[in-house]
Amino acid sequence: MLIVMKKQATEEEIRAVCDHIESLGFRPHPLPGAQRTAIGVTGNQGMVDQGTLEEFSGVAEVIRVSKPYKLVSRDVKEEDTVVHFPGTNASIGGRNLAIMAGPCSIETREQAFAVAEQVAAAGAQFFRGGAYKPRTSPYAFQGLGEEALRIMADIRDAFGLRIVSEALDSESLELVERYADMIQVGARNMQNYSLLREVGQTRKPVLLKRGMSATLEELLMAAEYIMAEGNYQVVLCERGIRTFVDHTRNTLDLAVVTAVHRLSHLPIIVDPSHGTGKRNKVVPLARAAAAVGADGLIVEVHHQPDKALSDGAQSIYPQQFADMVGEVRQIARILHRDVLDGIQVEAQASAPVRGSR
Ligand code: PEP
Ligand code: MN
Repeated sequence: MLIVMKKQATEEEIRAVCDHIESLGFRPHPLPGAQRTAIGVTGNQGMVDQGTLEEFSGVAEVIRVSKPYKLVSRDVKEEDTVVHFPGTNASIGGRNLAIMAGPCSIETREQAFAVAEQVAAAGAQFFRGGAYKPRTSPYAFQGLGEEALRIMADIRDAFGLRIVSEALDSESLELVERYADMIQVGARNMQNYSLLREVGQTRKPVLLKRGMSATLEELLMAAEYIMAEGNYQVVLCERGIRTFVDHTRNTLDLAVVTAVHRLSHLPIIVDPSHGTGKRNKVVPLARAAAAVGADGLIVEVHHQPDKALSDGAQSIYPQQFADMVGEVRQIARILHRDVLDGIQVEAQASAPVRGSR
């Protein structure tokens, strides 16, 4: 159910409707838009009395939402969601394409800083790096854990880059939430509903990667799990799906970008690294993602990819990345969008590790 408030509805009128919804045992989600506030209602297995709600002052309309996903839907919020990073000019989902780059895994302080320095100089706003790695083999490098998160927090201090890192489970989530600016949920965990719920209880932006065999609806439902817990700062990520082809590691489904934009107000970025698995295909697919209207890119970059402990074959060199950013910026401009040249941070906003939940 969706309650559309009148354009001139006051804070008190919105609050009164939310209080009533809560008194019925349901959860209200007020989502302010440019034109009006809409209040999504979740938890309603049974019926909410539509007539009573329509009588509340400030209510324009009460709509039953027939789609299985509600809060992620454009029916609930017409305007695109823009995720902001306080104290910086970085955002995801607005006019600018967000650029995230870094190694698959944080291996050493020297490696992480070498890559970070170059991606910052090339114009990235976000630094990605795995601290907890979901590896196919239990014998493969599993990540440096908290030590990697500490290194990334130092990278934020040194270069201003906002930090994106994956949480694998409750334990790593607590640490990733504490150190990083954005919590990544990986493809393998897209349908880990208890993790999605926990991530929904945090107040950090979430990067939700599409599962390797997930449909669009399954992806949107996974985002719905996070939003239903009250965290509305969700960014989707297409990272390739498993198909019969063997010329790439996965098949990058760029059409899903346009499909998401029709159905949902959430931003969607593209990962051409996992999407192809091959260095020579990353830059062409990054250009294509910008052309199809993606809200950003997340790219694996390594200064010595042949020595990388994970995903070396799909990691591009810093110079390739710098050239890519220039090309993507030109493509974005044709589409009346742009790419920031790096990130600007307000002096006091570089405070490193914030308190835990
Ligand atoms: C990653 O970003 O390094 C990663 C493991 O991605 P995915 O979950 O898409 O495989
Ligand atoms: Mn990787």
